[in-house]
Amino acid sequence: MAYEPLHHKYRPQTFGELVGQDAIATTLANALQQQRIAHAYLFCGPRGTGKTSSARILAKSLNCIRQDHPTPEPCGTCETCRSIANGSALDFIEIDAASNTGVDNIRELIERAQFAPVQCRYKVYVIDECHMLSTAAFNALLKTLEEPPSNVVFILATTDPQRVLPTIISRCQRFDYRRIPLEPMIGHLRAIASQEAIDINDEALRLVAQVSQGGLRDAQSLLDQLSLLEPPIEADAVWDLVGAVPEQDLLALVQAIVSDHGTAVLEQARKLMDRGREPLIVLQNLAGFYRDLLIAKTAGDRQDLVAITPPTWADMQTLAQDLDIALLLQGQQHLRSTEVQVKNTTQPRLWLEVSLLGLLPSTLISATTP
Ligand SMILES: [Zn+2]
Repeated sequence: MAYEPLHHKYRPQTFGELVGQDAIATTLANALQQQRIAHAYLFCGPRGTGKTSSARILAKSLNCIRQDHPTPEPCGTCETCRSIANGSALDFIEIDAASNTGVDNIRELIERAQFAPVQCRYKVYVIDECHMLSTAAFNALLKTLEEPPSNVVFILATTDPQRVLPTIISRCQRFDYRRIPLEPMIGHLRAIASQEAIDINDEALRLVAQVSQGGLRDAQSLLDQLSLLEPPIEADAVWDLVGAVPEQDLLALVQAIVSDHGTAVLEQARKLMDRGREPLIVLQNLAGFYRDLLIAKTAGDRQDLVAITPPTWADMQTLAQDLDIALLLQGQQHLRSTEVQVKNTTQPRLWLEVSLLGLLPSTLISATTP
């Protein structure tokens, strides 16, 4: 059988299968149940959180021919459901505004919404990244939304709702997709791994979810790539694949820094670079780690605010107890100001080492004492 990427194969087919967006799934399913169909929907949220999947589910729900009215549970197997899923349905029009920006045929397409659907109950337009539409296209859309033709549904999706005209937003039913929380994401990935017989341990799976920062598509792509490696797949493989510094290494680095141990700091930094980590990445990951340490120090019960595995989080809380908030803040400021240097130099390794030594408490304090 032809290879199919995981994020295609495991695309949700009903609202019940949508991962981590329970409130939205319930609202849309209830609306369909009660036949309360809006003319326009606006799906906002970060990439990979289920916006376009929801648009397809909604299109199938409106048009599935197994029922003689819209249903929250499209069959997925009738001709209409299948043609929507594979993108061949005449009445299901998907436009990617990001790659078609300013092109007048978008305007034409929108204006053609006046014509009745050919095969389906509802003609469904999905305009992805709709904030990228040209002014002409936006105006055509607005005109259509002001006097919506019957049996046409617009689904606008955007990662950047701030850039959508307020006059458009006010004519849509708006749904805000959140980043998918860690636990549902892990559960979903675990189910895929077991279905696909991918031999990956729990720590690595958790890490995949964590580094994807709530984007399911990214997590699935990562799992896809990991599945090509020699099993069993462990956390180190994930760190290597994404090119980030393992959190335990960051912890060791910070421990060396706060104990004012210059040699240990340099050794730790060399070790990371010898394993192929770019100096800039080390610096940026370290800055993020300082932020997380600040949270550990000031809001220790809010593990949900950081992307850190539970064992490391426990270590960080212990470490943070003995740290001075001022030292953490100064350190972070120092990292931010040296990032530019590391970015622009021809000798990033050298500048990374200089920056790290500048974080030692003895140097930080002498730098701020007049
Ligand atoms: Zn169907």
